[in-house]
Amino acid sequence: MHLTEDTPKHAAGIRHVDLSNLQVASSETARRINRDIVLELIRTKQPISRADLARRSGLQRSTVSQIVEQLIGEKWVREGPLASAPRGRRPTMLGLNEDLLALAVDIHPRQGTVAVVDLNGRVLARATTPLTSDPAASTRLIVDSMQSMLRRLPGKSTEGVGVSLPGRVDPATQRLIFAPNLHWPDFDLKKTIEAKMRLPVRLENAATAALLAELTFARMDGVRDAVLVTVSEGVGTSVFANGKIVSGHRGAAGEFGHVPIDPTGPRCACGQKGCWETFASSRAALRYYREFQPEARGITFHELLNLAENGNRAAVRALARQAAWIGRGLRILIAGLSPSTILIAGEITPAWHRYAPIIEQEVARLTLAGEPPVVRPVREGDMARLRGAAALVFQRHGLRELPMETSSRSSGASKES
Ligand SMILES: [Zn+2]
Repeated sequence: MHLTEDTPKHAAGIRHVDLSNLQVASSETARRINRDIVLELIRTKQPISRADLARRSGLQRSTVSQIVEQLIGEKWVREGPLASAPRGRRPTMLGLNEDLLALAVDIHPRQGTVAVVDLNGRVLARATTPLTSDPAASTRLIVDSMQSMLRRLPGKSTEGVGVSLPGRVDPATQRLIFAPNLHWPDFDLKKTIEAKMRLPVRLENAATAALLAELTFARMDGVRDAVLVTVSEGVGTSVFANGKIVSGHRGAAGEFGHVPIDPTGPRCACGQKGCWETFASSRAALRYYREFQPEARGITFHELLNLAENGNRAAVRALARQAAWIGRGLRILIAGLSPSTILIAGEITPAWHRYAPIIEQEVARLTLAGEPPVVRPVREGDMARLRGAAALVFQRHGLRELPMETSSRSSGASKES
């Protein structure tokens, strides 16, 4: 069962308790919650003193000091310089330990990006490598890239490897179970990277990873219902409902990109016809461009964005049509989930000024009741999947335990660490 903080104290009637999943609140649970609060305050208010932590958290000074010592011992936090106070004792300031790093991997159908990311979400190094439909050969390239990157960063400590994938990962087996655009045969990516790197590896769907990045490194206080949509070769979504990331049976919740919205539409990589992603992905935008300008040579999506910026009419029209389809598909999400916020990540975000007015118009037209949700790109949206891969590593080790709906996932993760 979950003890939610928003249950009113006077509501002492019968409450639904799932007896198959009992977790009784213990003093250990309370210590964990206090630790998470202190760590989150340090992350968001750094540099901060112990006295300030006590004031802001409402915890006793002695409790704060104990937790801080524990966090320093665990290498999450470190003491910085003394604060400059006009008179009296100068307190030691605390901040996150920036020498604690995660290796992040973002896999797309044709290329992979490897990066070193610190505890504040800063990308310290980044390299891109081409990938093929051979997972073993592709993994070798990724591992080579990670190893040479680490050699250039001596004296830092690496916590693990996070991988964001264009597909769904079974939370129990950590194997890829649905990745229609990747065309990889069954392959144990996690074990292979773990054996080569000798670090724990965590895999996650790219949209969920991007949502984790927003929850871990940005501020989403007060938002309890949101949907994150990644738009690239495909369209992926991750759902944050009632303050929890929805995982669903076998971790497959959120495949709105494969909801058919026009049965006469193009064939999708998943085998169906007319899925939302066949109209709203960057591949769809390239198809529209070829329709509007049949004599044009084959280009990448990045080149399409540049053409639009340079005023190419076919490119501008192609992106506008893609934007309209993104907006229309959001209707399914809004009607079904009623999010207050829709976050957009992926390769369209650098051209957000082009997409925003069209998407907002579609969304406003289709909202059933009340105010339409806020639609906004995530910070540095083309890096969100990469930052999310790093967030997987830090989350697993306790930098803000993120609420996952399936408790088996989070308890499994904490047992490993
Ligand atoms: Zn599909």
